[in-house]
Amino acid sequence: MPWNEKFECMPFAEMQKFQLAKLKETVDWLSERVPFYRKKLGEMGVAADDIKSLEDIVKLPLTVKIDLRDNYPFGLCAVPMKEVVRVHASSGTTGKPITGPYTVEDLDQWTECVARVLWAAGIREDDIVQNAYGIGLFTGGLGLHQGASRIGCTVVPTSSGMTERQILLMKDFGSTALFCTPSYALTIAERAEELGTPLTGLPLRVGVFGAEPWTNAMRNEIEQRMGISAVDIYGLTELGGPGMAYECEAKDGLHINEDHFLAEIIDPVTLEPVAPGERGELVLTAIQRRAMPLLRYRTKDITSLRREKCSCGSTLIKMDRITGRSDDMLIINGVNVFPSQIESLLTDIREVELQYALVVGKKKHLDQVKLKVEAKQEIYDGGPQKIGEVEKKIANHIQGMLGIHVQIELTAPKSMTRSEGKAVRVIDERPK
Ligand code: ADP
Ligand code: ZN
Repeated sequence: MPWNEKFECMPFAEMQKFQLAKLKETVDWLSERVPFYRKKLGEMGVAADDIKSLEDIVKLPLTVKIDLRDNYPFGLCAVPMKEVVRVHASSGTTGKPITGPYTVEDLDQWTECVARVLWAAGIREDDIVQNAYGIGLFTGGLGLHQGASRIGCTVVPTSSGMTERQILLMKDFGSTALFCTPSYALTIAERAEELGTPLTGLPLRVGVFGAEPWTNAMRNEIEQRMGISAVDIYGLTELGGPGMAYECEAKDGLHINEDHFLAEIIDPVTLEPVAPGERGELVLTAIQRRAMPLLRYRTKDITSLRREKCSCGSTLIKMDRITGRSDDMLIINGVNVFPSQIESLLTDIREVELQYALVVGKKKHLDQVKLKVEAKQEIYDGGPQKIGEVEKKIANHIQGMLGIHVQIELTAPKSMTRSEGKAVRVIDERPK
């Protein structure tokens, strides 16, 4: 049984009716209260009454990150500050922070969404959950804290960092679930191995990892090194943080909490909807939020949507795992490449660790991409010839699979910075 059977198993037609009513309410809410939206809707000559079916959503304006920056910090807030009971802000991976204000109702709905995620991951009230997402302004930490508390789990709010202490507490408390970014999960697993106490023998059995792109290959690596089952969770600060979408036991796509978030996929260039099932940019509309609902927010995240029967019983629409954000997409010799594609290929190479970064530079007006990846100790000890061989092997594998030439630099073991939150996979060294 899911956490919320009514909404997670709602028949499609009923869900659509619900969404349409909530969408119209949101359009009214915003045009009455937020000058930015009143102006936009007025210019486009559209009001709630013009939304007769969900397809009419395309009549509504798109919202982009710049709109949030222009109205920083609370210009898009639809309620007086005295009704705002919490403010979070993005970690600022790609620039100035983005603010996220919440009313009491918003916090309650957010908690509900995260509880669904954790329940679907098999987490119950007898679990001891170690929450190693950053607790603070970042939505990940408090978001998962609240969701786990609602289920009634024993929550251990370690926050991120101090890896050895994470391992110590995990052992002493007998943590059964771990929440953090996938790259930090790998950091913890690796440190435990270095200390001679791998995590595989511990009670830990499930990981809820998200906040950054990761691949199935990375999942396998973490599951093996931790002896757990790992699932993906997705969300963004602009729309209230984690809990928008989540994997169930099928681990085949992420269910979107579509009674709260209406999802569309658009072509990022033409801004038109793509054909059903095709990949493109995820656009989300918050249809139940109060403090700062956004209409048709362009997430910049690339995925596709599927409406299908899921073995878990949920009827919620699914999105495929995010391959990356369009900001991180590289164009190498005319081919579009996401760091996640490189990550998948690296797991085929046994001689390296999954510690890597793509360094983008410029040579004679042409973009040049170098892949830095960390060698395993025994390979590094093999000297320059061995290193050269492995570099060639990786370059050939990438050339063969993606058709692009990437310069490879094998680095010394432990030379790359270990992630405690969101890993930096693209380092841009091009002159600004
Ligand atoms: P920032 O933009 O500073 O990183 P957020 O914490 O709000 O701030 O990050 C949200 C973004 O993180 C999403 O738009 C997406 O790019 C990425 N993200 C979050 N969860 C996932 C996930 N499960 N898979 C891939 N990317 C994710
Ligand atoms: Zn499912």
